Amino acid sequence: MEQKILVVEDSRPFRRAIEIELRKSGFFPVFAETIAEAERILDETTDFLCAILDYCLPDGQDGEIIDVCLSVDIKVIVLTALMDEMTREKVLAKTVIDYIPKDSPACISSIIPILKRLESNSDHKVLVVDDSTTARRYIRSLLERQYLTVIEAKNGEHALEVFQQHKDISLIITDYSMPERDGVSLIKEIRKRHRPGQVAIIGLSASDEAALTAKFLKAGANDFLAKPFNQEEFYCRLHSTLNILDSERHLFHLANKDYLTQTWNRRYFFDQPLSKNHSGPRCLALLDIDSFKKINDTYGHHIGDMVLIEFANTLKNYFSDALVARFGGEEFCILYGNSPTVFNQRLEALKNDIADSQLNILNNSIRYTISAGVVNADSNVHDLISRADKCLYKAKANGRNLIVPE
Ligand code: GH3
Ligand code: MG
Ligand code: MG
Repeated sequence: MEQKILVVEDSRPFRRAIEIELRKSGFFPVFAETIAEAERILDETTDFLCAILDYCLPDGQDGEIIDVCLSVDIKVIVLTALMDEMTREKVLAKTVIDYIPKDSPACISSIIPILKRLESNSDHKVLVVDDSTTARRYIRSLLERQYLTVIEAKNGEHALEVFQQHKDISLIITDYSMPERDGVSLIKEIRKRHRPGQVAIIGLSASDEAALTAKFLKAGANDFLAKPFNQEEFYCRLHSTLNILDSERHLFHLANKDYLTQTWNRRYFFDQPLSKNHSGPRCLALLDIDSFKKINDTYGHHIGDMVLIEFANTLKNYFSDALVARFGGEEFCILYGNSPTVFNQRLEALKNDIADSQLNILNNSIRYTISAGVVNADSNVHDLISRADKCLYKAKANGRNLIVPE
């Protein structure tokens, strides 16, 4: 869905330039030329990703529009032609996201990365670790202003507990000196299991110990900031850290997920501890769509692709608690715990569900069936796969639409 951006700007050339940039990047601008007009728009809706505000407007030359937007909880980016230090301080003292000088036409394109950042920030959960309540509250307000979800911990030891409970924390911002466990020791503990591309860490400290930056970075921090920090520097470092995190996630996704069905691929499957190690028996099934070639031949390859996506989604619904991967073509593999009765029942239900359903894809009514080979044994994953494959072969030979256990 296109995100709406409120733009309050009295200069027509600037409005035009902002409109082009926003639309090019998939945002939907809503324009006002004066504070009065902006207020009328805000009476109707406040559903904006953020507002881009000109500091100086015909009915308010001193940033009055900023408070109008902040009072209805809209995130604010300020554009201004006034470059003096006093205006800058005055703007930053308000809870705005950023301050952009109108010094060249290029200033508008610098807004886009900020908007993109705001959009993807809702995917990140940040743990703020500091023994000072005031410091935590201040950092929380800076982060929440950018749509980041924030959790707090009051020292390093507490942070490890919170981190255990919230597996989806992607960034930790930690102070250095704290009772129970300091920031450097916390980082060393986290880094035993999590790479900087999985969980990013920014160190903070008011200490004037010269070697502290190096200590933080050597322990595995992605970046470091000395306290007290400037809000703009904080945001710059935060953004570059989150950008790197997002690129790493994107690369991981590209390398480990199947492009068509968004199911894990073979590489991921064989990389999992669940595949590599085993202690005792577990269940594995190889599933294959019956006569899939005929679906492609009858309806075309792109409909075949959509059947694959449907099948993958059904599979993920039935086996959300298992490791499910697309092995290639129309063949999928499920690795499950050691509950053969539950596993076989669910496979039977899945097979029947698919055989009884009719897919409606682009005005075609499509029916298909699947076959599967299943094993439950105390063996390595390669052996399980080759045994399941023999069962799958029997299912095909015996007429298809069948689940064959070993
Ligand atoms: P069986 O019941 O014996 O499994 O017969 P089948 O037709 O399903 O098996 P076969 O191995 O003969 O054909 C599989 C077909 O799947 C051939 C191939 O073109 C098609 N296929 C493989 N990957 C894709 C894909 O990503 N999209 C589509 N649309 N077709 C694919
Ligand atoms: Mg103006
Ligand atoms: Mg097949």
